[in-house]
Amino acid sequence: MHDPDCLFCRIASGDIPADVVYETERTVAFRDIAPKAPVHVLVIPREHVASLAEVGGDDQQLLGELMLAARDVAAREGVSVEGFRTVLNSGLNGGQEVMHLHVHVLGGRPLIWPPG
Ligand code: AMP
Repeated sequence: MHDPDCLFCRIASGDIPADVVYETERTVAFRDIAPKAPVHVLVIPREHVASLAEVGGDDQQLLGELMLAARDVAAREGVSVEGFRTVLNSGLNGGQEVMHLHVHVLGGRPLIWPPG
């Protein structure tokens, strides 16, 4: 489903421009507009899913494809060997700002956890 009011749906459809680095049939990956690390890419499903909390049992395949796309993005961005972080924020307390499921792929510098 495409939500015309959703920023990331509109990026996935090409309606709003983004720096797309990788695409599969069901996923799109593009650079974060406000990068928190030298490599900061967001991987999203093309179809609208608001958050991890909204994912259904039949989305098992889609979640796997998102993680495989994140793996491929890390490899293409050259951070697989040195390491990278994947982050998936959900809901208010999780710090989710855009209500379309997305996995952050961050790398290119040491990323200390927990932050701050
Ligand atoms: P989150 O806080 O997990 O919902 O992350 C949303 C991310 O989307 C933030 O890191 C923003 O910098 C990023 N973002 C917001 N608008 C855009 C955009 N138009 N293109 C690329 N990244 C964006």
